[in-house]
Amino acid sequence: MAYRSPVADIRFILDKVVPLAPVAATERFAEATGDTVEAVLLEAGKLCDEVMAPLLRAGDLHPAKLENGVMRTSPGFKEAYAQIAEGHWVAVAASHEFGGMGLPQTLCVAINDMMSGANLALQLKPLLTQGQIEALEHHASDALKALYLPKLISGEWSGTMNLTEPQAGSDVGALRSKAEPLGDGTYAITGQKIFISWGDSDMVENVCHLVLARLPDAVPGTKGISLFMVPKFLPDAAGNPSTANSLKVVSLEHKMGLHGSPTCVMSFEGATGWLVGEPGKGMAAMFTMMNNARLAVGVQGIGVAEGAYQKALAYAQERVQFAPIIEHADVRRMLAEMRAEIFAARSIALACAVALDMGRATGEADWHARAALLTPIAKAYGTDVGIHVADQGIQVHGGMGFVEETGAAQYLRDVRVTAIYEGTNGIQAMDLVGRKMMDDGRAAFRLLQEVEDAAKAARETLPDLAEAVWQAAETMREATEGLIAQGTQDRFAGAVPYLRAFARVLGAHYHLKAALVDEVRAKLAAVYIRRILPQAEADLASVRAGAVDLYALSPEDLGA
Ligand SMILES: Cc1cc2nc3c(=O)[nH]c(=O)nc-3n(C[C@H](O)[C@H](O)[C@H](O)COP(=O)(O)OP(=O)(O)OC[C@H]3O[C@@H](n4cnc5c(N)ncnc54)[C@H](O)[C@@H]3O)c2cc1C
Repeated sequence: MAYRSPVADIRFILDKVVPLAPVAATERFAEATGDTVEAVLLEAGKLCDEVMAPLLRAGDLHPAKLENGVMRTSPGFKEAYAQIAEGHWVAVAASHEFGGMGLPQTLCVAINDMMSGANLALQLKPLLTQGQIEALEHHASDALKALYLPKLISGEWSGTMNLTEPQAGSDVGALRSKAEPLGDGTYAITGQKIFISWGDSDMVENVCHLVLARLPDAVPGTKGISLFMVPKFLPDAAGNPSTANSLKVVSLEHKMGLHGSPTCVMSFEGATGWLVGEPGKGMAAMFTMMNNARLAVGVQGIGVAEGAYQKALAYAQERVQFAPIIEHADVRRMLAEMRAEIFAARSIALACAVALDMGRATGEADWHARAALLTPIAKAYGTDVGIHVADQGIQVHGGMGFVEETGAAQYLRDVRVTAIYEGTNGIQAMDLVGRKMMDDGRAAFRLLQEVEDAAKAARETLPDLAEAVWQAAETMREATEGLIAQGTQDRFAGAVPYLRAFARVLGAHYHLKAALVDEVRAKLAAVYIRRILPQAEADLASVRAGAVDLYALSPEDLGA
């Protein structure tokens, strides 16, 4: 069965579960009427189904290649990317001022979800450009904005993010790339970056690298890092790409999946760059891009889960072992749980996007705090769901899932990296229990209160399900109070299970909302609330255990 973009599911969530209506009611996003949303999703869905999805296997079988310094991308990718750009799909959320559609980020998230299910490797390219556009909109000088934003928004040029170096992965502050001022407002950038996604391609006129580097007098650590725009080709006076900059792709990584996306080792050899934002404030500027990308990567997981689920569902209907395997209880369990997890993760991601849009439109601090709280949850849970669902998709296929021709295995190989890049899921969880709790849990308690209030209101209609959600939210509240009282080491030891439990409670909340308005979705909600939500309690037991057992084991005890 061919991939079909989940337009109806997304519409349902935006209408009934995480309403987009308040966003459309703001002056800033007044254009996002129901008709516009419908038209945008249908049109983007068509591109996903008819152009991107048919190239999924080609990207896997024929990875991008570096030939004599020239990047050759997978067959069909160039033409498909041209259609993405022509349809203005690169930057639907970019501002009107430089040619964007000015639509809510929520719609961008919905489109990225559909595109990821269709073809993750290809979708990663516009995703990175979107993040770069946002970083430039917020931090670049007017001259840089005028030069770069129209080309990035139109898709003629594309963007990358260059953080990682061999010794600087999660610890970005350890990076060593240097930026020497040349006295004319430009800088000479020197250093090596690794793992740079879409570091080059034959699909665009120019590749614009946002590079983190240190100025000569920079203090050590993250405070000494600045951000630079370093294009592959230096723009001439008319803004057109001209002289080649002093940078190159040294090699490509051989990866377990995501083959269609070239992952590059980049060498900057005194390349000309322009400062973006203030000296020493590079991490803050890059965080604009990273926060955008974190939500977007969570959505990548959800999209791939959708693709894997659709494939497994089709197979379960065709494959007969005694009976069509969809009739067997264990297969039914797998399919139901896969679908329920996708709904939960998608609702959380869209709730995060709505909070972002409301924050932008109203400037209200509570919306900003809501978006900040939900971003690591959306990233880690969305990608965990992607991996789990893709894994279950293989299981539904039995032996055929282990055979590459089926395509079930590609989903798992492709999606695995999403829990690693853009900050590993461990780092996301530490962000949640660390920075995002610096308000003493205010944003978290506010959200949990909404979950409890909604559950209370649902008690008459759906007593069993509502009671379970209310109880889980109450337990989550107590666990959050306990977490805030914990020392750093204990908090970090329980960070991943804490995040997972929080996501489960939120997932159950959104399922309950759906159950109140739709009978079929009420059946799916029952699966989530009765079979998946209880796992939150087990996770919270691990949170309460703190770090003591872990550090009672020395590296030698672990066999070192
Ligand atoms: C396919 C691919 C594409 C990528 N694309 C890009 C890109 O476009 N641009 C870019 O800049 N980078 C990119 N990356 C790099 C990616 O962001 C890093 O791999 C990631 O941030 C993790 O860094 P690392 O690999 O060095 O792992 P490490 O930082 O060495 O982490 C190893 C393990 O230790 C854990 N860990 C590390 N520090 C801590 C800590 N303080 N507390 C608890 N646990 C910790 C991690 O969670 C992880 O489990 C990409 C990577 C891949 C594989």
